[in-house]
Amino acid sequence: MHVPLLDLKAQYRTIKDRVLEVTQQVFESQYFILGPQVEALEKKIAGYCQTGHAVGVSSGTDALVLSLMAAGIGPGDRVISTPYTFFATTGAIARVGATPVFVDIDPDTYNLSADKLNAAVAAMSEDDLKSVKAIVPVHLYGQCADMDPILDVAAIHGWVVIEDAAQAIGAEYKGRRAGSMGDYGCFSFFPSKNLGAFGDGGIVTAGDPQVNERLKILRVHGAKPKYVHKVVGGNFRLDALQAAIVAVKLDYLDGWTTARQNNAARYRKMFASAGLTDRGHPPVEKENRHIYNQFVIRVDTGRDDLRAYLGEQGIGTEVYYPVPMHLQECFAGLGCQAGDYPVSEQAANQTLALPIYPELTESQQAYVVEKIDAFFNR
Ligand SMILES: *Cc1c(COP(=O)(O)O)cnc(C)c1O
Repeated sequence: MHVPLLDLKAQYRTIKDRVLEVTQQVFESQYFILGPQVEALEKKIAGYCQTGHAVGVSSGTDALVLSLMAAGIGPGDRVISTPYTFFATTGAIARVGATPVFVDIDPDTYNLSADKLNAAVAAMSEDDLKSVKAIVPVHLYGQCADMDPILDVAAIHGWVVIEDAAQAIGAEYKGRRAGSMGDYGCFSFFPSKNLGAFGDGGIVTAGDPQVNERLKILRVHGAKPKYVHKVVGGNFRLDALQAAIVAVKLDYLDGWTTARQNNAARYRKMFASAGLTDRGHPPVEKENRHIYNQFVIRVDTGRDDLRAYLGEQGIGTEVYYPVPMHLQECFAGLGCQAGDYPVSEQAANQTLALPIYPELTESQQAYVVEKIDAFFNR
């Protein structure tokens, strides 16, 4: 049996007619940059994320860079974030010239630990506290970070909160949607995300109309009106074609999310009945709407051997992420060392993402669990 990590062709078959219809409309209009398709998607996403505004952008990475720019963050500023994330989170902070400050993660959720955040803040000098300008929590794998303590600390110190919600569209924390809690919410339409475009794309959500205005100006090189620049922005625009496709797919998103959640529940049951729960450690659900962009298990020892074995059996898996940010060569200048963020380092050595996409079948899941069981009992 073949079980890929993700099967986008299976999903395309279910939406093909509507996608072809809207792409044809865009082709006929020959209107490709921003415009009515992008505006329609922005309205739809702002509503879906239960916030005031949304600004379509060129990628999730650019969503982060644009948000940091709109927040006025640059050289000399420090930004608190997690070392256990996709590179773009930390890369965006570095690209605007700011300095990342890492806080380790919670071992259950893999998200920024509120306790460690409070401890790190308590240990900072007055000068350090003043140089921090923002905090970027990541809702990793589709589960929200523990936002209340993060928002509290940010409010006390006047820090901007930028949610990296690239993996978490529709996720909820205490009834609040990802992207509606911080000052900015950054989403990605990379094809492997739960709401993927047919190429690159992203969006930034914002509750405040002034923030929305700043994002829109910076998205077009800082121009307002056209050819008049008070600030330097960039080309961060979303294509009309991608917006039209994403708007169609948004109608299916809740159904896909339910399918992912059902698959997660089924894996848990299968792990339990195979007696694998203590060896394969399925993910811990803490915050209340996990959208399962990834279903990540933890293997105490032999993760890479398990991955190789499953690969031989035709099962696709991935390691998100094998090298934490503080140990990346490009950030050596920060002076971090192995052992500085032990929970992140352990996660990098132990986590493994299994197939969880909505179209995955029960028999495919049974096969995955059977092979994990076979590996442990070799
Ligand atoms: C995918 C992702 C991004 C970047 O999104 P792109 O659209 O690929 O640029 C940023 N942060 C996280 C956590 C991601 O998973």
